[in-house]
Amino acid sequence: MQEQLKTIKKKVKKALDKDRWEHTKGVAYTACCLAMAYAADTDQAMLAGYLHDCAKSIPNDEKLALCKKHKIALTDVEQRNPYLIHAKLGAFLAKKEYGVEDEAICHAIQVHTTGVPDMSLLDKIIFVADYIEPKRDKARRLPEIRETAFHDLDQALLMVLADSIYYLSKGTREIDPMTEKTYDYYKKRMDTNGT
Ligand code: FE
Ligand code: FE
Repeated sequence: MQEQLKTIKKKVKKALDKDRWEHTKGVAYTACCLAMAYAADTDQAMLAGYLHDCAKSIPNDEKLALCKKHKIALTDVEQRNPYLIHAKLGAFLAKKEYGVEDEAICHAIQVHTTGVPDMSLLDKIIFVADYIEPKRDKARRLPEIRETAFHDLDQALLMVLADSIYYLSKGTREIDPMTEKTYDYYKKRMDTNGT
């Protein structure tokens, strides 16, 4: 695992621009810390963190071309907003280009932008780590979400989803219906659990 991690780190660093690489390191270490807090596999969290944005620096037209070439089905929202594709394409590249055989890692990469109802612990860790890693500084409630992430991951997940929807609704980017679906799923679950 350590050897694989070393090779992958080098390769990802080359595939990303400087800022994206700094963000990536932040996500990997934050994911590792969250894995410690929830007794999850730290190696898995680290690897998924390093790879989550591996397709991010590919130009949009190339992202679309790669998906076409490899028959990766895209939704209408993804077609219209190619920046969303890096999650799906990233999961594909993790497997094919970086040799990751662990499906749990690929799934966490695949769902890291929008979330999905009923996420695994690793999925949640990567999703939340992506939002709270130390280099992030613009989002509201960051200190609160960072603290919550280490004692109530589902609550932190819901906060990240709510704030993502809030920011997307104010900006020009389209909201992927999956983000809202995921929010509704966890909100309902939280309400029925009474927490
Ligand atoms: Fe991303
Ligand atoms: Fe990211």
